[in-house]
Amino acid sequence: MSTETLEFQAEARQLLQLMVHSIYSNKDIFLRELISNASDALDKRRLAGLTDDSLRADDLHIGIETDKDARTLTVRDNGIGMSRDDVVGLIGTIARSGTAETLRRLRENGENKETAELIGQFGVGFYSTFMVADRVTLLTRKAGETTGTRWESDGDGTYTIETVEDAPEGTSVTVHLRPKDEEDALYDYTEDWKVREIVKRYSDFISFPIRMGDDTLNSMKALWARPRSEVKDEEYREFYRHITHDWTDPLEIIQMRAEGTFEYEALLFLPSRAPHDLFQRDGSHGIQLYVKRVFIMDDSRELLPDYLRFVKGVVDAADLSLNISREILQQDRHIQLIRRRLAKKVLSTIKDLMTNDAEKYRTFWREFGPAVKEGLLGGAEDHKAILDIASFASTASDEPTTLADYVARMKDGQDKIYFMTGESRAQVENSPHMEAFKAKEYEVLLLTDPVDEIWVEAVQAYDGKEFQSIARGAVDLPSDEEVSEEKSGAYAPLLTWLSETLDDVKDVRLTTRLTSSPACLVSDVDGITPTLEKMYKAMGQ
Ligand code: ADP
Ligand code: MG
Repeated sequence: MSTETLEFQAEARQLLQLMVHSIYSNKDIFLRELISNASDALDKRRLAGLTDDSLRADDLHIGIETDKDARTLTVRDNGIGMSRDDVVGLIGTIARSGTAETLRRLRENGENKETAELIGQFGVGFYSTFMVADRVTLLTRKAGETTGTRWESDGDGTYTIETVEDAPEGTSVTVHLRPKDEEDALYDYTEDWKVREIVKRYSDFISFPIRMGDDTLNSMKALWARPRSEVKDEEYREFYRHITHDWTDPLEIIQMRAEGTFEYEALLFLPSRAPHDLFQRDGSHGIQLYVKRVFIMDDSRELLPDYLRFVKGVVDAADLSLNISREILQQDRHIQLIRRRLAKKVLSTIKDLMTNDAEKYRTFWREFGPAVKEGLLGGAEDHKAILDIASFASTASDEPTTLADYVARMKDGQDKIYFMTGESRAQVENSPHMEAFKAKEYEVLLLTDPVDEIWVEAVQAYDGKEFQSIARGAVDLPSDEEVSEEKSGAYAPLLTWLSETLDDVKDVRLTTRLTSSPACLVSDVDGITPTLEKMYKAMGQ
């Protein structure tokens, strides 16, 4: 068979360069990346076997071999394997949009000390092998296909690919290690003890046996099934990386177990930063569904409301069929129940953060608040809990305030929660609408997220106090004086002239609302606020 030489896609080349020049001090992680890929492939194989008998496989496992003389380390799996096209598409390019995006930012920033942090935001996956290798060989055959594919690269701009007849089903990756560094025995990956140590450290929870010779190196214990007190933080972090490819540590870990008629276990993570696709329509959701320890699917949107789509983790339900499809999930009553409980638990966890760890709470709200507020647009069942954990910029201080604190500061006779929406704090604060409120020291919430425009419409009140836009209709401040009759009379001709001259304005009125500006534009009581008007225009409505 002929061997083809192909070029890596530009982003892939760039990532490889970073690997070859070793931006990570911890090179051990290449092995966990290979094991992680093998584990994913075994999950897929097991799943395929459930619906197609011919793809059923026994003894799904991962094998590791080392060869001291040849200085190689091989990770083998009998998982789903890859077709030739898969190899070109999956290994030769970087498909993950997050990675491409991060690389684009890397390019813009150049290489500086932020580089490591930026790149730390995603798992580098297969390419991390080039931190320790001067050549990597991959041999694979897709389950159910007759020919296999051999791929090889030394990490420069190209790779070779050929079709082969004698590949076993599944994938093996052989890492040709760089020449031994006599100074640094710690990095000899042909040492059995070294391999054992890495597997134990990073991959113990992998649910398939990882074997070296006759030994199984990992305990295979599902993390979510173990009591929290027995699991080290480091193990949770590794698991989080395994399922999310996010290399920043999670902000908070949530573990749940429900017993009784419908049993399930859940291990959820609040990430510490928002993913780049948080506001994209088809951005990914973070929950994996397992049934009795068997992986069923990624991205299970049914298990959490949309506004909590950034929560990552695993739900393991005991009483679902292994063949469950997405369509069935959508209708399953138990799934709806789990979804409610998980949402409640996530919201109550955030509430706890608010009381017990203000710093974490602030990080959380900064990163995810705009998504969480979307929850105020849907069914009212979560509104109270969401408003309780929300915080907003306010004229009272530079720090955001909760609604409870706002209410506690309300002046005598004030019965509404005043807010103004806009594009930025500065813009809103300098608005003429603000003058009377400033002069009379009424606190106003400064709402500058696009979603704020909408939820204030959907949510009537908090703690019995209505939300009132100060840019709308006649806002009666409790201490407002009436405009005197004398004044009204004197200004009548001017008002008439103004309303005849200004075509787009519905009405011109005298007001006591302004203290230093001569005039301001106000929306109807039922009209839309200026920012919303802009938003609708932008959306072409
Ligand atoms: P990621 O695992 O985050 O997708 P990787 O760079 O680790 O990124 O792997 C890229 C892709 O290559 C995987 O998504 C998978 O489709 C494929 N792949 C890698 N290793 C294997 C394997 N052992 N078996 C089957 N497919 C694999
Ligand atoms: Mg991977």
